[in-house]
Amino acid sequence: MPSSLHVPLLDLTAQYAPLRDEIQAAIARVCDSQHFVLGQEVRSLEHEIAAYSGTEYGVGVSSGTDALLVALMALDIGPGDEVITSPFTFFATGGVIARLGARPVFCDIEPNTFNLSAAAVEAFLAEECEQQGGGLTNKRTGGRIRALLPVHLYGQMADMNALGRLASRYGLAVVEDAAQAIGAEDSANRRAGSVGAVGCLSFFPTKNLGAFGDAGMCVTSDSALAERMTMLRVHGAEPKYFHSEIGGNFRLDELQAAVLRIKLRALDDWTAARQANAERYNALFAEAGLGEHIETPFQEVGGRHIYNQYVLRVPKRRDELRAFLAEQQVGTEVYYPLSLHQQACFSYLGYRDSALPESSRAAAEVLALPIFPELSVAQVEYVAAQIKAFFR
Ligand SMILES: *Cc1c(COP(=O)(O)O)cnc(C)c1O
Repeated sequence: MPSSLHVPLLDLTAQYAPLRDEIQAAIARVCDSQHFVLGQEVRSLEHEIAAYSGTEYGVGVSSGTDALLVALMALDIGPGDEVITSPFTFFATGGVIARLGARPVFCDIEPNTFNLSAAAVEAFLAEECEQQGGGLTNKRTGGRIRALLPVHLYGQMADMNALGRLASRYGLAVVEDAAQAIGAEDSANRRAGSVGAVGCLSFFPTKNLGAFGDAGMCVTSDSALAERMTMLRVHGAEPKYFHSEIGGNFRLDELQAAVLRIKLRALDDWTAARQANAERYNALFAEAGLGEHIETPFQEVGGRHIYNQYVLRVPKRRDELRAFLAEQQVGTEVYYPLSLHQQACFSYLGYRDSALPESSRAAAEVLALPIFPELSVAQVEYVAAQIKAFFR
């Protein structure tokens, strides 16, 4: 084992090197065409990603955030409406709800998967809501509960069976935040994004399928929703310059689509490499007997976890461990240091800090390790050895 090894949290140069010529040729083709926005590359990518995700349609948009925004707009979510989501997620999930004038409702997470707890959602719906005037109303706020927005955090799907049952019982739409989960499957082999009305993907460079900038996509098998989102992405125009409703500029450009189409062909190999890295970490940590100090990621039986992140739970001394690893040249990250209900911008929602204990506890305990596909065995062993050294 090398005594010192630099292990960044993510190194995209290793992924780019073998694809360099092919990608540069594709970029050159787009440059030669001088067609930059919503052209043939975007249309082809939409078909390919829809097929990959097990859906009929893909609507390419400017980012994962905009995918969420367009999906909620297409469902007419707005002022007076409330959307139930996970508080333990990237900010965008809650941010888009609030930006539309609707109210985010946070229900707590499952401690093992870090995903939205169906039991917590059920308790909220049964105890804090009532049917009123043909809709489901939040008794405390008077708002109308319209949708569920589960997040497939770290690359593992939320419990879509249980959440789907609640959605149909209470008449709620389901939008999946699959930004971290392209190609993930639940135990019924349904792909992330294919279960709800709309699935929202991000191609931000740090995601498993990353563009050379910002990009995203909505996937759906509902033709009417696909059509509506296609219109909303160009300011609601249909035909051009005729606006029956107000959309935005959520367009995807050809350069990003051309790059993503090439990278998509390698995605399954990258996923397999991430899974192999995760298994190697699991085995090394088990061997090291670190069970009282760390908890390795829980993996749902029968599902496909794509390991956008490999996240440990470190109940004690998480930040100390992180600082120690930084000294040893090992990159880590905390996704996320605050639950959304603890964010200053959401203080108007009135959640007490203790209202969502599992989400708060997760924020205090999680630590993401390097998991990118090109990590060497020596690097994985080095990271595990440093963690063992810290606790010894
Ligand atoms: C990355 C991410 C988003 C936002 O995607 P962008 O492409 O960065 O706008 C939304 N939700 C989750 C869970 C994410 O990880």
